[in-house]
Amino acid sequence: MRELRLTDAAAGIADVFEDIGALAARCRFTDCEHETEPGCAILAAVEDCSLDPARLARWHKLQAEDAFNSASLAERREKDRAFGKLVRSAVKAKSDR
Ligand SMILES: [Zn+2]
Repeated sequence: MRELRLTDAAAGIADVFEDIGALAARCRFTDCEHETEPGCAILAAVEDCSLDPARLARWHKLQAEDAFNSASLAERREKDRAFGKLVRSAVKAKSDR
């Protein structure tokens, strides 16, 4: 359920900032963070005034929030897995007795 919402959030960002997404696809590096990278199509667009820097800042902020949400989701999954292992080892220890 929560996963679906997170995916929706990412899709929503991509939808609203379609122009930035299209520019990002033209960056020299696929892992471009559009901050200081050479060959960044987004920075070039800001440079030649075809992209509003305030809009770019908003996009960066949303991307960061989305990344944070996704990271905490992965973290929670990791904890669940560790807990599952703990339960299994406890069950095993009991049956070994
Ligand atoms: Zn870039």
